[in-house]
Amino acid sequence: MIKPYLKELKPYPPGKPIEELRRELGIEGPIIKLASNENPLGPSPKALEAISGALTNLHRYPDASAFELRRALAERYGVEPEEVVLGNGSNEVIDLLVKACVREGEEIIMSEPSFLMYEKFAEAAGARVVKVPLRERRHDLASMAEAVNEKTRLIFLDHPHNPTGSVLSQEEFSAWHRGLPDHLVVVVDEAYGEFIRDEGAVKALSFKEATPPVVLLRTFSKAYGLAGLRIGYGIMSRLLADVLNTIRQPFNVNVLAQVAALASLKDEGYLPRVQEIIWQGHDFLLSALRDLGLKPFPSQANFLLVDLGRPARPIYEALLRRGIIVRSMEAYGFPTCLRITIGLPEENRALIEKLREVLDAS
Ligand SMILES: *Cc1c(COP(=O)(O)O)cnc(C)c1O
Repeated sequence: MIKPYLKELKPYPPGKPIEELRRELGIEGPIIKLASNENPLGPSPKALEAISGALTNLHRYPDASAFELRRALAERYGVEPEEVVLGNGSNEVIDLLVKACVREGEEIIMSEPSFLMYEKFAEAAGARVVKVPLRERRHDLASMAEAVNEKTRLIFLDHPHNPTGSVLSQEEFSAWHRGLPDHLVVVVDEAYGEFIRDEGAVKALSFKEATPPVVLLRTFSKAYGLAGLRIGYGIMSRLLADVLNTIRQPFNVNVLAQVAALASLKDEGYLPRVQEIIWQGHDFLLSALRDLGLKPFPSQANFLLVDLGRPARPIYEALLRRGIIVRSMEAYGFPTCLRITIGLPEENRALIEKLREVLDAS
């Protein structure tokens, strides 16, 4: 009874969990995970407090409309609460967009490489995935526009792009967007949007009501350190938001995620603290990696792609044996690159130290 095309699909390869590495390699000392772009500071203390306070209420269903949280987000972005769709991670909002817009046999466009989940949800829906290679580690907007046809329903742009950390300028996005037809939706996935320092980067929200419409995705998984709770959101035209809110599970965002996200937003000192740690870590790693004779690419996210100039797999494995988990990028078409999540200052220093050992020994 299973749909034949589903049997061909492969599961998502997550970053290696710390305990798995410990078991596999028998490592006893500390393990540093710089592989999944998680927040090294941990959640806001206010979020933890809110979670403790909500524990006595776990026998109740969550607020299906997440009234308070959507109001707080709407206020922050200067939109209406009705234009906010919450999901069990922004991943769920990606899934909902595919369900709402793409029929079997229709198409989505994404970069190659790009975030794997766009492809997974589209494939699960029986859609055709059109992949456009990056151009100099950036979205190739011109080629993406050329790939549009009458079957295209969604175009996904991770912004900053994962794994390169590159962004698009307001001018280039605007000129590109103007040339697109009106039978599709552009999804700008800003999972790392809070880390963008480039003032010229596109502000996707200003295209919410444009033709074609643009959806902005954001998450509490990265800058707000709540990856384990699963909560993210999309901001979009009311028309589209109404559809997504109708087809989603009513209780898709759990009680703890709702209160933690709200408390994190209200903790005004938290985000600037995270940004400072990440921005300083970025600048430290950029120059330390260059000092090792490597080629890191400047990033607008909380990770860095670095070209080792040799196959990265053995270096990745040697780092694992020294208790450091990063991502090797051959599956993403960068066989000589590692993607390193920016950690705490001491984690960044440990990475550089171990990397120096490994490079010296090879
Ligand atoms: C990490 C990441 C997300 C986050 O997904 P959640 O479901 O919100 O945890 C989304 N998009 C990209 C490109 C990411 O790298």
